[in-house]
Amino acid sequence: MSSHISFLDQVYRMYEKAGAHTKHTSGLLTQIRICNGVYAMEFPLKRDDGSIGVIKAWRAEHSHHKLPVKGGIRYAPNVNEDEVVALATLMTIKCAIVDVPFGGAKGGVKINRRDYSNDEIERITRRLTFELIKKNLIGPGTDVPAPDYGTSGKEMAWILDTYNSFTDDPLDALACVTGKPLGQGGIHGRTEATGRGVFFGIREACRDKTAMDALGWSTGLEDKTAVVQGLGNVGYHAALYLQEGGATIVGLAEYEGAIHNPDGLDVKDVVRHRKATGSILDYPGAANIANSRAALQLPCHILVPAALEGQISTENAARIQARLIGEGANGPVTADADAILLEKGCLILPDVYLNAGGVTVSYFEWLRNLSHVRFGRMNKRFSQSSSEKVLRAIEKGTGVKLDDALVQEAISGGDEVDLVNSGLEETMIAAYHQIAETAREKKTDMRTAAFVLAINKIAVAYEEMGIFP
Ligand code: NAD
Repeated sequence: MSSHISFLDQVYRMYEKAGAHTKHTSGLLTQIRICNGVYAMEFPLKRDDGSIGVIKAWRAEHSHHKLPVKGGIRYAPNVNEDEVVALATLMTIKCAIVDVPFGGAKGGVKINRRDYSNDEIERITRRLTFELIKKNLIGPGTDVPAPDYGTSGKEMAWILDTYNSFTDDPLDALACVTGKPLGQGGIHGRTEATGRGVFFGIREACRDKTAMDALGWSTGLEDKTAVVQGLGNVGYHAALYLQEGGATIVGLAEYEGAIHNPDGLDVKDVVRHRKATGSILDYPGAANIANSRAALQLPCHILVPAALEGQISTENAARIQARLIGEGANGPVTADADAILLEKGCLILPDVYLNAGGVTVSYFEWLRNLSHVRFGRMNKRFSQSSSEKVLRAIEKGTGVKLDDALVQEAISGGDEVDLVNSGLEETMIAAYHQIAETAREKKTDMRTAAFVLAINKIAVAYEEMGIFP
């Protein structure tokens, strides 16, 4: 991050800006902002060569106004306590925006996973889980981790397995972590949920005539070009769905470099090429950009930074050509850069809203684990036969035979993945309009409006508890 202001201070600046648009007392605003607790750990790791390493890690529980608290665990070389607290704060705001009834949390392990073998990563993950269990910082009703930068379903399966070996509540143990593989209590649609949510949010903004008029654009994705930074979980899925939704992906950036083709890149094929050659560079038909960060300045309509925080700072903000910035990553735009982009008339869809698809579907997974039944199992056949009866009655009453394919489509009851995606779509669309309406009402930008919305929702929870009558 180029700015001298820390990530946490940037988050606090955004928070203060939003707080000024509310009527809450400074005491209540402080209570909502502060981090309830952060636990710092150091534990040993026996390396494959027999030597001993020491691993640093943190778990921040930002707000206990709702339980459990929830937030991903990231494995990154530069993670620190300040960053974990900042990310936990964003989680509290995020959950409130999308009406997920959790407080915010975040975990970090200070490692570059490329320096460790798979077995070493497993030992780190299991030991981390043990440290969390010892301090009651994990459990279905207390604190529920999920994947984040540098972690995936595999780590979540190790966390569950370790938790299972120690718990005295095996019935609900599955709900101690989300983002698990399907065979381990995961839910269909979780892996791609954050990227899919990013797509739903950007698509909704592009359908919003008022927002498009302000940019001087027509509605719809079809005539839009996009650049995506980061081809990991969030970036890959966001890029893929944007492409499938009609946008042209003209640039893709990874840590080893970036590629550009104004005629469009095929996201799946680029990933195949990267797997085969070990690099995104030299993709047929595309120009190489050696300095990956320079790709953020490519000409395009939509820019999706989906790698790490601090990627758009005062260093490059003035040169960003995109007018719609979709924050796939957490904190990709610094507070000073945010001001520059807004001054240029950009529409910024903030991280606290745009990447909330992950926690939304994590919430669905947690509900499924606690109810011990797959979504759709009880009602799919019943709703199919009810719909079929209605259609057959229409046929009988009108004497018109309906097309069989149409009938089959109309009566398909929806599998779990359909229900999850539909719940996610509804969540992202509803939240977009709540934020856009707040932005218009308060005459402010979407980020400030998203924070205002969250602060007001959390304030209600405190007021209802009588803490701040
Ligand atoms: P990931 O580890 O799957 O992917 C990150 C990708 O970014 C990797 O492919 C990495 O090589 C690439 N990258 C790293 N440095 C880069 C650079 N300088 N330039 C370009 N690419 C670079 O992580 P993820 O889960 O996709 O998370 C990405 C961001 O999204 C993080 O900020 C994370 O906090 C946020 N996020 C993730 C989720 C989720 O469900 N995974 C949910 C909400 C927010």
